Amino acid sequence: MNRRSWALYLAQLAIATQWPASGWGQTLLQHDPFGVGVASGDPSPDGMVLWTRLLMQDPLASQPITVAWEIADDVHFRQIVRRGQTIAHSDTHYSVHVEVQGLQPQRWYYYRFMHHHAISPTGRTRTAPAPGDMPPHFRMGFASCQNWEQGYYAAWRHLAQEQPDLIVFLGDYIYEYAMPRNTTGLVRSHQLGHANTLADFRNRYTLYKSDPDLQAAHAACPWAVIWDDHEVQNDYAGDMLSGMLHPHLAVTAQAGWQAFYENMPLRASTWLRGVAPDNPAQRPWPLYRQLRWGRLANVHLLDTRQYRNLQACRSSTSRSAQAVSPAACPELADPARTLLGATQEQWLHAGLGQDTRTAPTQWSVLAQTTLFSPRNYPSGIVSTDTWDGYPAARQRLLASVAQQQPRNTVLLGGDIHQNYVCQVWGNAAIPPAKKASTRLLASEFCVTSISSKAGTTQAKVDAIRSHNPHIVMSACEQRGYGLADITPQQWTTHLRVIADAADPQSPVSTQASWIVLDQHAGPQKL
Ligand code: FE
Ligand code: CA
Repeated sequence: MNRRSWALYLAQLAIATQWPASGWGQTLLQHDPFGVGVASGDPSPDGMVLWTRLLMQDPLASQPITVAWEIADDVHFRQIVRRGQTIAHSDTHYSVHVEVQGLQPQRWYYYRFMHHHAISPTGRTRTAPAPGDMPPHFRMGFASCQNWEQGYYAAWRHLAQEQPDLIVFLGDYIYEYAMPRNTTGLVRSHQLGHANTLADFRNRYTLYKSDPDLQAAHAACPWAVIWDDHEVQNDYAGDMLSGMLHPHLAVTAQAGWQAFYENMPLRASTWLRGVAPDNPAQRPWPLYRQLRWGRLANVHLLDTRQYRNLQACRSSTSRSAQAVSPAACPELADPARTLLGATQEQWLHAGLGQDTRTAPTQWSVLAQTTLFSPRNYPSGIVSTDTWDGYPAARQRLLASVAQQQPRNTVLLGGDIHQNYVCQVWGNAAIPPAKKASTRLLASEFCVTSISSKAGTTQAKVDAIRSHNPHIVMSACEQRGYGLADITPQQWTTHLRVIADAADPQSPVSTQASWIVLDQHAGPQKL
């Protein structure tokens, strides 16, 4: 992109975002290199990742640039505890991923970046508790699915104000597709095309991250992020990345994953292991990982896209995964089918064993992207992109929980743009109302979207719930986020919803609160 087309791009963004063009003009003139904000992530007991990405005035720039950073005890930066310099490179789009070490556990800090005379906004971040500690309280926000065109981010502004210790983002940070022209009901529109190339994905993140409420949520506390499908392509599966049926998808995925890394507070090792110009297939991006909060919680962050088999009975040319009748799709029950891949399954099994034995943990949290519990439609069909499409893999995970016996297991999910609260039974195929042979193993909170539309009606959702007794709540009409207040004795999930995603100033309220008592699996209405 030359200088002229960059100016044109910014002007188009100004039109697209319905912001005054003078605002973008000023950005261009004064050139705030920190226009996409700051973030922090993956806190450990002695540090975290500090992130920013510099917007370059000259889009053809390729010289490395020096960025200074500092982290302090106080918001005025009088008590600076660490500072340093790092180099931002054009090959990672001038993103910065500083891995701070040597801090005190269980403490809040403030951080910022400097480049020439520019100073970034100040972010607030914190360390995790020491490994042996049992903190009395841990507040964790969780959210997914922020289609920029379908809603404003009032939900992010409210979540930032709830003062969470950590925000877990469960996927669909961007949407890769371009809404057809003349689509009605959009609250804002842009003119970016369907994302295929690295430049396309980078533009998507710049657009999404221009939102002040999203920036505020990133600046409020550390995040832990995983991706779902729309960071690459709707309903893609790892299986589609090899072979000749989708020859361009592996390249698209590499571009999407790289842009995700560039824009997220992930550790630099993610990039070093993820990028392999010679053969991407041999070095998958290492996204699944653990985040431990002392002895109170261990969050297992799962990658449900990169290693999954193709959705059952999906035709090789279909652009999305279809719902199927299990009777008409024997492949669905194939025990060899996997959602996480064998390596990640084994890693999770070992991690759950660690939570029980070597590092006894009060709450084992499975942070994954989609609905885990069965959702049998009254028509008899099931969707194939959720865990319903991988029943043998789901049963293996349940068997792993049953065998390892974590003290408490809570599953978090997103993707379906609806609030679902579920009892998780030991045998997912047996309706709990009928069988005493299965055990209540865990609790599931699948959270509604930040802004993406649900695409269903409450009447249909009610019909599904009455057909699935393990689903204790389902609501599709409101956007929002989950807020978990976690203590050694009790987990409380507040499902917070905004009144209207078309209103950037929308108020927030609590749709429902559910508790899980220590060593009593299953959500109970508060
Ligand atoms: Fe989504
Ligand atoms: Ca999704």
